[in-house]
Amino acid sequence: MAHEIHEIVRRRKSRQVNVGGVKIGGDASISVQTMTKTKTEDVEKTIAQIQMLAEAGADIVRVAVNNKEAAKAVKEILKYAPIPIVADVHFNHILALQAIDAGVAKVRINPGNIGSKDRIKEVLKAAKEKGIPIRIGVNSGSLESDILEKYGYPTAEALYESAMNHVKICEEFDFGDIVISVKSSSVRLMIDAYRLIAERTDFPLHLGVTEAGPARAGTIKSAIGIGTLLAEGIGDTIRVSLTDDPVKEVQVGKEILKSLNLGSGGVNIIACPTCGRLEVDLFSIVKALEEKLAHVKKQITIAVLGCVVNGPGEASSADIGVAAGKGVGVIYKKGKVLKRVKENEIIQALLEEVENY
Ligand code: SF4
Repeated sequence: MAHEIHEIVRRRKSRQVNVGGVKIGGDASISVQTMTKTKTEDVEKTIAQIQMLAEAGADIVRVAVNNKEAAKAVKEILKYAPIPIVADVHFNHILALQAIDAGVAKVRINPGNIGSKDRIKEVLKAAKEKGIPIRIGVNSGSLESDILEKYGYPTAEALYESAMNHVKICEEFDFGDIVISVKSSSVRLMIDAYRLIAERTDFPLHLGVTEAGPARAGTIKSAIGIGTLLAEGIGDTIRVSLTDDPVKEVQVGKEILKSLNLGSGGVNIIACPTCGRLEVDLFSIVKALEEKLAHVKKQITIAVLGCVVNGPGEASSADIGVAAGKGVGVIYKKGKVLKRVKENEIIQALLEEVENY
């Protein structure tokens, strides 16, 4: 199942970077990342949030390093972080140097925005010495004024040019350990910009729809933007941005990967929407399964169908399935009927099958 997309669409070939042991690009699994929403200098709260994000399945977490207190806090945070931490720095090369010195696994910084060549050189030299990559993150909302003037408004070419200006600076200093993002709050624009950069470079790409908004709309925008690109074989790491709990961002990111049979695992639940033919309480069954299987790392597709119309077909083509009938459930495993159980035993029977899978 995991290789399905690679059989249909070949994944774009990108160079690989190493973010504290999590590889991005090349043949590495597509990672899910997010960003903490605490004040980074509040070490206790930030560590607690990082731990929750790791439990939810985040592979990498970014923290804002926007002042000297935050830079100082990074050192402490790194002692307890169970997954690699990335420093998000804007404009200030001293903060970048402090974060690198503290031991972050990557820095998100745009070299063209940190001032003199000497400053850029210092940051790139420090990153090189520590063997950490940088992410050049271009955003349609903060394009440089000369680029905006040239293109009139944010376009895919404008985003591409902005990113490549930063890349050129890195290359002047012989630094190539780069991940690129060209985000926009416009789904169409981000898709076009990533397609351009994917076609013209081999840098690993960090995908995201920026400022996607509240959970429902943001989930849909992210799924369309990130999902379209992934389905074309573009993208090496993803970040969903929601005006909501970052745990939800990770959950949505993981669902996007699961829906394309990508990523590092998890249970993909196929469930019918229900209709007038429904013969069991399917909503409760699916809700319970979703909650109880959230932490399962195995890659399993489980189908839960409410009646005999599509039930046997879907249930038998999933890894594990149930086709419900009047007060009963027929449990399937790998296309074969395993047993019939009573309605109140369906959840337990499916959980046991997942456990033993
Ligand atoms: Fe309706 Fe049965 Fe289809 Fe579920 S599987 S939507 S209950 S017809």
